[in-house]
Amino acid sequence: MNKSLSQRDQAVIWHPYTQHQTAPAPIGITRGEGALLFDEAGNEYIDATSSWWVNIHGHSHPHIAKKLAGQANTLQHCIFAGYTHEPAVQLAERLLPILPGQQARVFYSDNGSTAVEVAIKMAIQYWNNTGQKRNKIIAFHHAYHGDTFGAMSVSARSVFTKAFDPYLFDVIFIDTPNHGNIAGLKQQVKELAGQSIAFIYEPLVQGAGGMLMYSASLMDELLTICKEQGLLLIADEIMTGFGRTGRNFASEYMRTEPDIVCLSKGLTGGAMALGVTTCTQAVYGAFLSDDALKTLFHGHSFTANPLACSVALASLDIFLEPACRENRLRIQQQHLNFKTRLEQCNEVKQVRMLGTIMAFEVVSPGEDNYINGLANLLHTYFKNKRIMLRPLGNTLYILPPYCITNEQLGKVYQAILDLVSELAQGAIMTK
Ligand SMILES: *Cc1c(COP(=O)(O)O)cnc(C)c1O
Repeated sequence: MNKSLSQRDQAVIWHPYTQHQTAPAPIGITRGEGALLFDEAGNEYIDATSSWWVNIHGHSHPHIAKKLAGQANTLQHCIFAGYTHEPAVQLAERLLPILPGQQARVFYSDNGSTAVEVAIKMAIQYWNNTGQKRNKIIAFHHAYHGDTFGAMSVSARSVFTKAFDPYLFDVIFIDTPNHGNIAGLKQQVKELAGQSIAFIYEPLVQGAGGMLMYSASLMDELLTICKEQGLLLIADEIMTGFGRTGRNFASEYMRTEPDIVCLSKGLTGGAMALGVTTCTQAVYGAFLSDDALKTLFHGHSFTANPLACSVALASLDIFLEPACRENRLRIQQQHLNFKTRLEQCNEVKQVRMLGTIMAFEVVSPGEDNYINGLANLLHTYFKNKRIMLRPLGNTLYILPPYCITNEQLGKVYQAILDLVSELAQGAIMTK
């Protein structure tokens, strides 16, 4: 008998974030359409978290497929130092005007982590090139900016970074603002800002940290202080970009504008790997010199891959259509209705939402941390109901493709209500 995809996988593949000693067999996915994914046994799953937050327009989108095929017949890849091509130039031309702040230049890389690496290197070398002695980067507790070493360094230390902690560079971590801590926080930032080169942050929603949300107006107060002190503001919009939080970019909720913006995930509609780091003319200008040492020495073999850029252009076409915005507003309204309902349940707490993101904590009898059993249990619970929801510790969240239908959303909500009532009956903990 022929082996299944899942069985063949288990002989040869090492998956991300997976303890293979105990992990269940992976599900072999053969096809995707809209908000649905289909497995090799023919089951359909609702992709309620957009395949790790990347898919904004649904799977196998025909417009994306068409543009990708067209580009594949024209130019698939070429070196990007000393050479250029239409998809890269056009994408930069179309992206810059819609980004927050006065973004003037686009630097391409391959994914979110590399977009962050480039941002960090830009910021460090900006201060080098301008001959000023500052050396610290400020980031938030619970931050997540990626898995490469620079990105890990500016991310919260956690069970995920534990083995690498001694190799990560020092960063100043501060709390996200709330009404209780804002006065002290402003004082702290004032004291730190003078010796710091940059502040990197996920605007308004800390994704991997547990979909933690914080106030735009309080954040604006912090950003204003940083700006006054000359710090470069690095907005990591990798998860929040392209409409996820309601506005096109979450930075638009604040008046103070970023100097550097990182994008990936939704950039290609989730169809291909691509990272973008943009910066203002002031940042770019600090690298212009007759001195070769002031060059930004960074690049990847696949910088500005034409296929990925053309897919990003196709995704942008869809994103900028009124229908996409209407879909996002529709999801937001559905979430809002469900939120009211969910808030009446004792088994969940801290129900929160912003735009198309909804998150809450499942009250568990055990300790609250990512590697506790509850996360696995919840993941399996929804998998059995053919819904892809992958909790972050006790945090359950919905972050769907914008094309998800009300009926599909309804199924996701119902599955959550089922979970809640089973929790109330104590039916789940005993499994
Ligand atoms: C996912 C994510 C990254 C890392 O992107 P990868 O493409 O997974 O390397 C960085 N920052 C934020 C805010 C993210 O959500």
